[in-house]
Amino acid sequence: IYILGIETSCDETAAAVVKNGREVISNVVASQIESHKRFGGVVPEIASRHHVEQITLVLEEAMRQANISFAELDAIAVTEGPGLVGALLIGVNAAKALAFAHQLPLVGVHHIAGHIYANRLVTEMKFPLLSLVVSGGHTELVYMKEHGIFEVIGETRDDAAGEAYDKVARALNLPYPGGPHIDRLAHEGKPTIDLPRAWLEEDSYDFSFSGLKSAVINTLHNANQRGETIDPKDMAASFQASVVEVLVTKTVKAAKAYGVRQVLLAGGVAANKGLRTELEKQFAKLKDVELVIPPLSLCTDNAAMIAAAGTVLFEKGKFATMALNGNPSLELE
Ligand code: ATP
Ligand code: MG
Ligand code: FE
Repeated sequence: IYILGIETSCDETAAAVVKNGREVISNVVASQIESHKRFGGVVPEIASRHHVEQITLVLEEAMRQANISFAELDAIAVTEGPGLVGALLIGVNAAKALAFAHQLPLVGVHHIAGHIYANRLVTEMKFPLLSLVVSGGHTELVYMKEHGIFEVIGETRDDAAGEAYDKVARALNLPYPGGPHIDRLAHEGKPTIDLPRAWLEEDSYDFSFSGLKSAVINTLHNANQRGETIDPKDMAASFQASVVEVLVTKTVKAAKAYGVRQVLLAGGVAANKGLRTELEKQFAKLKDVELVIPPLSLCTDNAAMIAAAGTVLFEKGKFATMALNGNPSLELE
């Protein structure tokens, strides 16, 4: 089965061809980060305009690199949501046009299902499994008993982990996106500043990062008022220590409670070295649980993950119609 995947939910225009939901044949990503940097975040109008400019080129390049014709494809998979509505529409309309022109079936994919299925491009998925999804807009623990069925057992009640990284980076005058900068500084500093950990209720797998973010901003502000300076390296290290401790502790607890065979890391924050290292350390102790961490290029937004998740829908016969629309608040479950 050859599936062409298309992803335009945020600030990456991406297309990819995947074989049997497992093998990346081509994977093309055009990032817009440079255009959004000076605004300190993604500007929806600019994102849509870039997608319009890039989509045809990116699609042609993905087909060229795969050295495949449309006649050889089995379906087209596209991110249906969640994301920026204007951005989603570019991908959805490109997918519909291609499906119509080449008489191919169409599948609509949930962006987070895509992030989780990036793992299937590196290894076989073994059920039951747990996925820790940490991205710019989402922080969730997702339980899966079988392909294509998702149960969200915990999620953030306010900011996503990536969002907290980007906001704290902003408070430290670091460029957007701030995650990688904080990660780098954190390794040069020491976690000497006392910051809160949001454990929430005893039995909850939910997360909360806005209190932590406020604590960082207040600490910086108060120090500033007193004419003191805080080493940004130590602040980065302290912030990262809090985020990583909560994410890892809750993931380990859920993995044990649900008796899973695998834990899959998903989303852009999976690039975080502190998080990867601590997960590896803790899961090395759990002999019967396999930890999977995909390469960075598959953790951030891409279309190979969309094609991989779309293959499962294709196999289940869950096709979309020409009425497919971008849905900014699409549910995973
Ligand atoms: P969503 O998938 O929820 O719609 P998104 O697609 O914008 O959101 P991703 O592209 O998966 O999110 O991830 C981007 C986020 O990852 C940004 O918030 C960025 O700061 C963060 N990030 C990237 N690298 C790192 C890192 N090394 N440490 C921490 N965060 C990081
Ligand atoms: Mg992105
Ligand atoms: Fe994403």
